[in-house]
This record gives sequence, C-alpha cells and structure tokens, in this order.
Amino acid sequence: MASKKYVYFFGEGSKEMKKLLGGKGANLSEMTNIGLPVPPGFTITTEVCNLFYELGEKYPEGLNEQIDENLKKLEVEMGMTFGDKENPLLVSVRSGAAISMPGMMDTVLNLGLNDTTIDSLIKKTGNKRFSWDSYRRFIQMFGDVVMEVERDKFEEALQAIKSKNKVKLDTELSADNLKELVSEYKKIIKKEKGISFPQDPKEQLKMSIDAVFGSWNNKRAITYRNLHDIPHNIGTAVNVQVMVFGNMGNNSGTGVAFTRDPATGENVEYGEYLINAQGEDVVAGIRTPKPISNLKKEMPGIFNQLIDIFKKLEQHYTDTQDLEFTIQEGKLYMLQTRTGKRTAGAALKIAVDMVNEGLIDKKTAVLRVEPEQLDQLLHKQLDEKSKANAELVAKGLPASPGAALGRVVFDADDAVKESKNREVILVRTETSPEDIEGMAVAQGILTARGGMTSHAAVVARGMGKCCVAGCEDIKVFEEEQYFTASGKKVKKGDWVTLDGSTGEVFLGRIPVVDPEVTGDFEIFMDWVNEFKTIGVRANADTPKDSEIALKFRAEGIGLCRTEHMFFESDRIKAVRKMIVASNEKERRKALMALLPIQKNDFIEIFKVMKGLPVTIRLLDPPLHEFLPTEDEDIKEIAKELGLEFRELKATIVSLHEMNPMLGHRGCRLSVTYPEILEMQTKAIFEAAIELTKQGYEVKPEVMIPLVGSVKEMRILKKQIIKIADELIKKSNVRFDYKVGTMIEIPRACITADEIATEAEFFSFGTNDLTQLTFGFSRDDSGKFLPDYIEKGILDKDPFATLDEKGVGQFVKIGVEKGRKARKDIKIGICGEHGGDPDSIKFCHKIGMDYVSCSPFRVPIARLAAAQAALEEI
Ligand code: ADP
Ligand code: MG
Ligand code: MG
Repeated sequence: MASKKYVYFFGEGSKEMKKLLGGKGANLSEMTNIGLPVPPGFTITTEVCNLFYELGEKYPEGLNEQIDENLKKLEVEMGMTFGDKENPLLVSVRSGAAISMPGMMDTVLNLGLNDTTIDSLIKKTGNKRFSWDSYRRFIQMFGDVVMEVERDKFEEALQAIKSKNKVKLDTELSADNLKELVSEYKKIIKKEKGISFPQDPKEQLKMSIDAVFGSWNNKRAITYRNLHDIPHNIGTAVNVQVMVFGNMGNNSGTGVAFTRDPATGENVEYGEYLINAQGEDVVAGIRTPKPISNLKKEMPGIFNQLIDIFKKLEQHYTDTQDLEFTIQEGKLYMLQTRTGKRTAGAALKIAVDMVNEGLIDKKTAVLRVEPEQLDQLLHKQLDEKSKANAELVAKGLPASPGAALGRVVFDADDAVKESKNREVILVRTETSPEDIEGMAVAQGILTARGGMTSHAAVVARGMGKCCVAGCEDIKVFEEEQYFTASGKKVKKGDWVTLDGSTGEVFLGRIPVVDPEVTGDFEIFMDWVNEFKTIGVRANADTPKDSEIALKFRAEGIGLCRTEHMFFESDRIKAVRKMIVASNEKERRKALMALLPIQKNDFIEIFKVMKGLPVTIRLLDPPLHEFLPTEDEDIKEIAKELGLEFRELKATIVSLHEMNPMLGHRGCRLSVTYPEILEMQTKAIFEAAIELTKQGYEVKPEVMIPLVGSVKEMRILKKQIIKIADELIKKSNVRFDYKVGTMIEIPRACITADEIATEAEFFSFGTNDLTQLTFGFSRDDSGKFLPDYIEKGILDKDPFATLDEKGVGQFVKIGVEKGRKARKDIKIGICGEHGGDPDSIKFCHKIGMDYVSCSPFRVPIARLAAAQAALEEI
C-alpha cells in the first residue's frame, strides 16, 4: 500500500499549506512557484513531527523511502550526488513550524561535507579557504545542534587559533588555520561524546532530521510557545535545501531584509547584509552588518533585482515581507520569506498605506493589526524636556520603540528574580534564546552587539518591548555584573532609562509621558468604527480619566467607582466620620459634609462626557477599607474626630470581618445604611439637574452593586427613584436616567429574569463573578494560579481572559434571561475582561450592547470589537 505523502519537493506545496509544511517550507514552495531564484529542496511535513512523538519517537512507515526519492530528485536536478568525489551535493537542514519561532530550533548548514568531499569542494571552487571554512562551520553547527556538544568548546578552540595566529576576525584565518580547526573540532566531538563525527552524508542527514524533530520539545522551544500562546501539538517541518554560499569571496554575501521599515512602517527598503559571510553571521551579531542601502553602491545589479523581488513579493502576499537572501558569486538567491513582524506604529502605517496603494481593502487592514499591539502605541514615551537635561551615556540602534526605565541586571535568571520586586532592564552583550524568560519580565533590553535583526531586536519587537541593540558605546562585563559607558561604571541595581525609538541610553530615571494619538492612528480607528457593532465604554472614576476615555473615543462611562472619590485627602476624614458614627443622626451629619464634594465630582464628570451615558456605581467596598489599622494612625484620627482612642479602636475592631469580600459590602451597605444611598443619589441628581439647567445634556445610570436577589433591587431602586423623581419634579427639568445593577453573583445570573423586572440595565462585573464562580480569591490567587497554568489545569488566568466554559456560561444565562424579561434591557460588561480582546469577542458573540474597560485600553477594545464583527461575516 502506498503510504501517505510525507515529503513535498519545493514547488509541490503553496503558501496556503503552512500548517502542513510550516511557514518556511510553504513559502519556499510558493517562491519557487512564482519564479523566484530559490535553491531547490524538499520539506518533510509537520505531520511527521507529530507522528514522531505519537509513535514514541519513531517515524511513520514509508517516510525513509520518500526522503530517498526526493533526495534522488534533488541530485538529478542539481547533477550532484551526496558524498560524490567530483560534484558533492551539500544541503542545509532547516526547521520551520507553522508559526515562526525565531531562533528556537537551529539550522545545520553545509551538510554533506566530509574528509573526502572537502577535496572535491576545493577542486571545484578552487577556493581552499572557503572550503575549509565551510567544513569547520558544518562540524561546529552539527556538533552543537545535532550532537549536543557544548557550544563554548568550539568557541574556545576558535579563539585559541585566533590568538595563536594573532588575528581578530574569523575572516582573517587562513585556509591552513581553518584546516587545523577542523581537526581540533573533530577531536572535541570525539572527546565529549565518545563517538566520531559521522563521515557518511546520509548518516549526517538522518541525525540532523532527528535533531530537528527532537528540538521541538526542548526547553527553549517550550518556553517560547508558552510565552506566545502557541499550541504544543502543531509540530515543526524539516526543510532540506541545496546550499548556496555567501562566503565564497567578495562577490558573495548574505543578508536579511524587510520590504518596508518594520520600526516606522515607511515604504523604504530596510535590512542588513555582510559580504563574504554565511547565513547566521548577520543575525548572530559577530560582525556588524551594513545597511541594505549600501548594497546599491556595492552591487547595484543585485540591489535592483532585490528591489524588484520586494515589489513582486508584496504584490503577491499583499503584506510586508521579512526575507533572507544570499549572493553566491554575483548571483542572488532567496532563502526565506515570511510576514514581517512590525511595531504597532509600523503596523498602522503599513495598513493605512496599503489601503491607499490599493493593495488591500479597509476590512483587511482592520483585521491585520493585533488589538494587543496597539498597547505599544498607547504607551509611554520619554518626556522630551527632561530628556534634554538627562545624562546620555550611549547610543545604540533603535531596535524596538517605547521608553523603559529600571534597574540594571546582567542575566536572565536575575531578571526573573529581581523583577518580582522591581522594574529591571536586562543588559547583555547579545541575547540568545536562553534569555527569553528574562526578556519577557524586563521593562527593556539593552545589548552591546547585533543589528536591527539580531535576536534581541526581533524578540523585543515581537513582545512589544523597548529595546536598544548593537550599542557599541557600552562594554558589558556580565560575569562582574557591570557595564561601562562614557567612562562611567554602571553596576547591577543602578537605574537606567532607555529610549527604544532613538536608541539612546541614559543614566538614572527620566519621567515618561503619555503618547499622542493622531494621524494614521485616527484614520485607522475611523475604519475600526465603521465595522464594529458593540459599544465601547470606559471605566473612569475621575474627570481626568474621563477625558482620556473621551480622547480615545469611548462611548460613555461603563463604570464610575464612587468609592475612589472617597480616598482623596480632602474627604477621607468625612468618610471616616460617617463610618464610625454611632447612630444615624451622626452618620447623616457626616454624609451631609460629603454631599457637596461628591456632587461636584459628578458635575465635572458629566460635563466632560457631554451627554454620553455615565454609569455610577453606589458605594461598594467593605467600610473598614477606609479606616486606619496602625495604632499611631488611629490615635491621630481619634483626636481629629474628637473621640477616645479606645472608643475608635473598638469601633474599628467591631467593623472587622472574617471574609470582607463576602461580607458587608455592595448593596448590603445600602440595605443597612439607607442614608448612604440617599446621599449618593442626591449628589448624582442634584449634579444632573444643575447641569441640565445650564444647558448640558446628561445621562446618569445609577448602578447598584452586588445584587443577588430581585428583592434587594426592588427595595433600593424604589428609594433611588423616590429621591430622584422628587428632585427632578421640584426643579422642573427633564432628562432620562436609568437604574440598573451589576451582575457579579452567580445567583444574580440564574435569577436574571427576575432581577430584570426591576433593573433597566445589567453590567457584568466579571471580576467578582469569576472569583465567586471559581471560588478563587482574587487577592490570593497569585499564590496558586501559576501552578494551575503550568500544570495545564487552566489555559489562561481567568481573571485576565474570561473563562467561557464556566463563568462565560453564567454570563450567557444572565444575558438570555435578562433579555427575556425585559426586551430593551441594556447589557454590558465592566470587569477587567472588558479590555481583553478574546473576552470582547465573546461578549460580542453573546449579544452584549457594550464593553467597558480602562481608558487606555479603549482603542484595543474598539479594534477587538471591529474584528469580532468582521470575523462573523
Ligand atoms: P532561522 O529560522 O533561525 O532563520 P534558517 O533555517 O532560516 O534558520 O537558517 C539560518 C541561516 O542559514 C539563514 O541565514 C539562512 O538564510 C541560512 N541558510 C539556510 N539554508 C541555506 C542554504 N541552503 N544555503 C545558504 N544559506 C542557508
Ligand atoms: Mg531564517
Ligand atoms: Mg465587584
């Protein structure tokens, strides 16, 4: 029986087959098909990788035969043979999953070289130095990646030969030096592994394929997948490709390029290259590469051909590409293309430009920018004025924009440790995949070596994290834990500030400021609004927050937490008086003092919001949160309030609760102390009336928190309406208002039909709802949630992304029952989840009217909402 197709020759696949062939393989096939100069090769599918693990690290039947067939085809096409004395076939073995995982799995180049074929290569090329250099690179990579010999061993041998011959650069080593290095390398392998470096090319190939599939489950790869939410069961493909050589002399070279600038989005060629170098040299940061624009002078023909290819690729893929090329003796070859990673700013600019160029439509543009990515744009920049006076000590490459400040650490483990208590900046000579975890927790990354496409730069951009790379002005002493810059010594724990948009490095701390959101951002967000159907409001407690919300075009306030107004210094005293009051009369007196203050807050917020709905939540937290705990403070406050210390202390003790989050809070406070509700209602409506008289439009929505039963709702709503209507009637003005509730108790979801007979709107408080559904204390879950995620009990933190299966079902029931009982009920969400793209998609799906999130997340929520609508079509 013929076995399944496990191997595809380049050209047999297409760009649509990423899942099966991996990104690299699919695109190598595609580029072959559109006539680009791609060295031939074949791809072993990702399915083989998955089967390999399913079958207990064994290969499926028929695979070996298929590999042999394709190898034969390659040999015939090239007129070369594996291990041949005249014309030996040399290949690279490259991994490549469907989702790109930069640097996760290493490539082996020059495979097929051995003690015999090296002579043929010398004869064929007439280039001894090149041949020995290729051989030593092969043994080095093979030894490291396939045989797992410590990388440093080879590095030491290389350094030793360099010092012996008094040279600095690899390129200065002679053919004889390199030949000597080859025999040193072979000795190292024998010594470290007890077996010899394999001479048979077929054996070399088999071992390399094993290593690629094996590397799918190495620790680095697993960490990367965890960090980027990449599933562990998609597998990697293996590509076997004929070698082309960028290290054959000064008319050869290798480079990486983007069809547009991935940092700014500008439509200009972008990239770096090295003359007389092979593949990895550019990214590894061993030599500092030249900008691609330089190629125009150095090799104009190649440059023009490259620019033509850029255009062709962009037309074909309708997106910016990130590509690898190699020039072998004046001839250009394409080795990889993929969608180019970009900063948020670039993503916006490219999306807007491409619509204007007619390359894509608005819908595609809106779907192409990741909501979370906008976060980068909405984040801080250095305050220009303070920056002018700051101590600039170095300048590197602006590898990933934004500003970051923190204390310096010099290795990834330290970064992980220190970041628990403070902000850190990770400083390294250069980063490698082992540093990923440290990079993830650092505020910013600073490296001394490597270009715009070095590991540090690529990974930081992917993480949306500030990075200054290739900063040759600094010298990093990782062992001794300090770096030097401009004659200064910067030690572990010292503060530095990075500007990832300019590459500047400052000593000390520089204040950061909020970003401007105009230009492409505005155009793009207009398109977003064309597509989104669900409303986006903001959670804002102050006039300032409300202004930010409005700037980001929030369509109202979904949650205004009145208690946040109570903590300010001019009012906390009155609040405390109210809390410790021993009877209603005293309490009312204290509340009277709060009334004008609170009223004024509402006036300000209503004014800012210009007639958009404002949902105001009545007092929610347990009262003792407002009281002092230290004796010192209690004494002071007792004096202020004219109370005995003992008396106040006793009151505070009596207010203590075992489980405050499940205790006397939310609507329960209003049930016990109706005068609090009375004061807040008065403040809201007096403010609204006053503004209406002045000609403002207002839309107050009074929200009762923590309702679990319709009776709570009924009693409290009646009180609110009575006060509101009396005030409105007396003042002879007209405006609409609503009274509704926050749905955050499972019982409220289950009895939502009853509650909706009273509530005119629902706002799902999914923070508390998640806490109460899981029985996870929000404040303590940090102790165990990481274990739950690591052990796979939960996929994600349910406080960050709504748990659709459980909590989401309560929400769904609540929405359905609510709508059944009251057709025009307005339904929204105001928990943290209101700003999380996945959760927003869920809210859209179950038919909510709006989501509400923190002001800075409003654009992210708007984009997620538009995408949810577009994905439905
Ligand atoms: P990565 O995913 O880490 O970029 P690649 O498989 O793309 O790994 O290869 C690493 C480097 O080797 C790249 O610079 C690539 O262009 C180069 N390379 C891979 N295959 C070949 C080949 N057949 N000929 C020349 N260079 C190659
Ligand atoms: Mg690559
Ligand atoms: Mg709550």
